Amino acid sequence: MDTKLHLRGGSRTRSGKETLYYIKGGSEALLGALQRRLESLGVEILTGVAADAVHTEGAGVSGVGAGGVFHPAGQVLVTVAPQLAVGLLDHDGADHPAVPELQRRWSATDYLGNLCLVLENNRKLSDTYWLNVNDPDFPFVGVIEHTNLDRPERYDGKHVVYLSKYLPTDAELYRMSDEEVFAYSLPHIQRMFPGFDRSWVERFHVWRAEHAQPVITPHYSRAMPAVESRVRGLYLSSMAQVFPEDRGTNYAVRAGRRAGRLIADRLRAATPAGSAYV
Ligand SMILES: Cc1cc2nc3c(=O)[nH]c(=O)nc-3n(C[C@H](O)[C@H](O)[C@H](O)COP(=O)(O)OP(=O)(O)OC[C@H]3O[C@@H](n4cnc5c(N)ncnc54)[C@H](O)[C@@H]3O)c2cc1C
Repeated sequence: MDTKLHLRGGSRTRSGKETLYYIKGGSEALLGALQRRLESLGVEILTGVAADAVHTEGAGVSGVGAGGVFHPAGQVLVTVAPQLAVGLLDHDGADHPAVPELQRRWSATDYLGNLCLVLENNRKLSDTYWLNVNDPDFPFVGVIEHTNLDRPERYDGKHVVYLSKYLPTDAELYRMSDEEVFAYSLPHIQRMFPGFDRSWVERFHVWRAEHAQPVITPHYSRAMPAVESRVRGLYLSSMAQVFPEDRGTNYAVRAGRRAGRLIADRLRAATPAGSAYV
């Protein structure tokens, strides 16, 4: 948290003006560009298929199971939350002597989920881009009017606002239906923005992410999972491993690059059977 405050403080000029960047087209533009680049290099990307197991044989990994198909691999980089990675090792991996310790380590980091209520409004809610909320009676920690950063013309003239909350996934708000979340939030938004009216909202969307924010506990650096595991060829790279930084797309890119270089080093030292990414 200290690091995040330091980082955000550093994005201000001496006069207090803050400079933030936004990729035109959002994450989809970034991911689309990465996909095109990787495919041009001959990488096959499977979408809409969950990896369901990482298999081991002898001292190392042997491949990945996804959608009933076994993909042989000598190097596997897992990039999901460590808690989810544990489930991938549940099967025959339990026979490997290093797996129980790995499962214990990977289970140690708890996560909070995130819920975002996104409003498509026909007018501005306020002039503020990012409003942090410290009122325990308000159900969200931030009200972010995206079209105060990027122009509404890029969004069919709509004013896009999202309200964000980090919370355990068994919390009442997380478990409400989309309509219930919206109905529950309306009076709170009205209280904060007295001029606001329900008729301003043309559409709303509710987004939920189960593993959004690793929970950093005291002495976390001791518990933080390593990228390289003691199962030969098995690596983990996730937002639970960027401490002391907080999660962010830039750290995901940095962590992926570092893991890639590490694997390339190991491949140079040995002849691989293949590679796969989860
Ligand atoms: C509300 C919110 C706002 C944010 N705003 C910003 C911001 O403004 N700037 C910024 O830099 N960062 C922001 N972040 C953080 C950023 O989104 C994350 O740090 C980043 O997405 C982490 O990337 P990742 O690849 O490690 O994990 P993820 O993006 O979580 O990717 C992991 C993927 O693995 C998939 N998966 C899970 N299990 C399996 C399986 N078995 N098989 C196959 N796939 C699987 C998941 O569906 C997911 O798509 C925000 C996060 C939230 C929740």
